[in-house]
Amino acid sequence: MNKQIYITRKIPEAGLKLLREKGIVFDMGTSKVPPSKKEIIRALKKKPYDGVISFLTDKIDKEIFDACPTAKVFANFSVGFDNFDLEEVKKRNICVSNTPGTSNLAVAEHTIALMLALTTRIIEGDKYMRSGKYEGWDPDLLIGTDLKGKTVGLIGVGAIGTEVAKILHYGFGVNIIYSDISPNPTLEQITGPTRKETVEILREADIVSLHVPLLPSTRHLINKESLATMKKTAFLINTSRGPVVDENALVSALKNGVIRGAAIDVYEFEPKLTRGLTKLPNIILTPHIASARQSARDKMVEIAAKNIISAFETGKVINSVIK
Ligand code: NAD
Repeated sequence: MNKQIYITRKIPEAGLKLLREKGIVFDMGTSKVPPSKKEIIRALKKKPYDGVISFLTDKIDKEIFDACPTAKVFANFSVGFDNFDLEEVKKRNICVSNTPGTSNLAVAEHTIALMLALTTRIIEGDKYMRSGKYEGWDPDLLIGTDLKGKTVGLIGVGAIGTEVAKILHYGFGVNIIYSDISPNPTLEQITGPTRKETVEILREADIVSLHVPLLPSTRHLINKESLATMKKTAFLINTSRGPVVDENALVSALKNGVIRGAAIDVYEFEPKLTRGLTKLPNIILTPHIASARQSARDKMVEIAAKNIISAFETGKVINSVIK
């Protein structure tokens, strides 16, 4: 296949092998940190690339498409695709794909780990021990919360939200309620008919966990008003996308006891952190690692490479983000 693509950052070898087998040649960015738009544009202008493998940290918009008008396929190495200007994509004859379903288990397990870290206070305990404060068993020390019997409210129950619900239902005896723009009959077979309005989820849940894509309709879904709707004893978990939460409002809510605690893997201004976030004792922060498993990465790279190959062979990607 006489095609060449640009890959904005290093991807696992398994994907490169698939491309080589089809005779697709590639250049690959070498930066360990996300390349700037300028760097990507400079690289894209070097050759008339036929396609691009991009990352969620690459903002793909008009300027990028203009820099490489020959590229007719962009395969995003990510489940989310909010890094694309989809209005611009629709104006052009370009295919864009993502890697759906590749990290359901990884993200679901990470979400549960964050929930348990909050309810068991395991991170506070670790810090306590390292600080040399431990003087022996104390019945009042770092009292946690049972997860069993609690109500977890899931906002968005697609692939990942459903996986979270299953683990919580079967493994932890948790009551599940959810909101989604569409009903999820598969989930309701397990949990019963538990779909509610988002505002009811916020009001009723002991733990609210976010699993929606970042869309204009979900940006700042969690804001000052929605946080005020939650129970004072509730926890918020976000492993979806940072801007789904108004981070300034979250900092203020955590500081003022509007909710009890939070655990987040994604950030509104990634990689920058909102002022005050790291000073709060009642939030757990992980560096966007919910899908960081070799099993997930291997599936992601395979799907990204297969979408590139499919676009060259058939003119269509397998996992188009434009439905
Ligand atoms: P999905 O498309 O399968 O599910 C998303 C669900 O959200 C759908 O059921 C959809 O109907 C629902 N939804 C959309 N708008 C809504 C709204 N306003 N209110 C309620 N529900 C709404 O996606 P998924 O595979 O489950 O992934 C969800 C998101 O998780 C991705 O878009 C991505 O941003 C994020 N993600 C994060 C990581 C990470 O490393 N932290 C990894 C993978 C995915």
